[in-house]
Amino acid sequence: MSMLAFERLLFGGVFVSEKLERRLFMKQQNKDPSVAILGEISRRDFLKLSAGSVAAVLGARLLSMPGFTDLIEASVAEIPVIWIQAGSCSGCSVSVLNAVNPYINNVIVDEVVPGKHVSLRYHPTVMAAAGDKAIKAMNETAKNKGGFILVAEGAFSTKDGGIYCEFAEKPAVEHLIELGQNALATIAIGTCAAFGGIPAAKPNPTGCEGVQQIFSHNGIATPVINIPGCPTHPDWFVGTVASVLIGGLESVEVDSQGRPKAFFANLIHDMCPRRRYYDVGKFATKLSEPYCLYALGCKGPVTHADCPTRLWNNGNTWCIGCNHPCIGCTEPDFPDKESPFFQKAASTGVAAANKWVEGVGLGVGVATAAGVATHLAMTGASGRLKKKAEAKEAEAKEGES
Ligand code: SF4
Ligand code: SF4
Repeated sequence: MSMLAFERLLFGGVFVSEKLERRLFMKQQNKDPSVAILGEISRRDFLKLSAGSVAAVLGARLLSMPGFTDLIEASVAEIPVIWIQAGSCSGCSVSVLNAVNPYINNVIVDEVVPGKHVSLRYHPTVMAAAGDKAIKAMNETAKNKGGFILVAEGAFSTKDGGIYCEFAEKPAVEHLIELGQNALATIAIGTCAAFGGIPAAKPNPTGCEGVQQIFSHNGIATPVINIPGCPTHPDWFVGTVASVLIGGLESVEVDSQGRPKAFFANLIHDMCPRRRYYDVGKFATKLSEPYCLYALGCKGPVTHADCPTRLWNNGNTWCIGCNHPCIGCTEPDFPDKESPFFQKAASTGVAAANKWVEGVGLGVGVATAAGVATHLAMTGASGRLKKKAEAKEAEAKEGES
């Protein structure tokens, strides 16, 4: 990392620790002019110390201390990242901040993979700098055409020139277009950035769109990796970034929706621990029941993500594990086609939209029908229902006579 780049990192937003400053100062006081900092504080130590202080506490004197320059020059390759936010709740940022393997401080100041680390130059939520200094850091980084990764969070308003979502004195969509055409690649984090998501839900009064849609309209050929989810899982983001750092963009194999296959290749339904109930037609009739949640609106049969095996909250649980149907938050048509969330897929139209009924769903539909029939037969419910109907009919006739 060059000194210039490091200064940008600092003034652009981030991470120097008082502890480090104090240790350097103490070294000086011990009259050790050589200040064997590199022997004593490794770059990794430095980064760890630095991570302890998200609020930047840089003093100019730190830069002038003996040994400091050497410390910084002992570098690994840095990958500059600009992270912009548009129409979003910042939930994906918050989710990524909760990363556990590795922790977020390791992601943004340590080496994500040996010899390479992410240099987060601009992030509106976590950076300490604000106003002109923050925007200057972003613009300086963006001058290096093809030399940075753009992360976009949130959907981008396009109606009336995008005036309904602005930062740094101009519409967010303009920033996206300018930054996007110079970026090495763009990661659209969260369903809003990937596909429009909630801000683009009907009637979409501000004309929100996802990143790829906007790039296509503006002839921007920069590759886009979509990491959807509402919010996205921290592993999906960190894992994708690590893949890019290790093997380059080409190492990230994506599906037809631009989602990394490593995380989105399979259907929730195919990995769901409640699948055995679905297969025999045993469906929950209220959320607290431990059976298949299909009848209560579960969109697992048409949703691609590895939630059942990866789990959330540091591997503790996930939506269906908490007795809530999957609402299909990683799919391109979320949330319009998945709504109402508590009505089964066949009645919300999501099945047809995903060619589920005609394609995969034909099998699933048949299986469901078979499952329901089996279930009814097994439990004798069909007989009970028939008897109930006959009893009602008899009651009605009695009333008439
Ligand atoms: S419908 Fe939902 S709850 Fe039922 S098996 Fe499929 S994913 Fe699991
Ligand atoms: S289980 Fe479904 S709704 Fe829940 S996070 Fe995974 S994809 Fe989204």
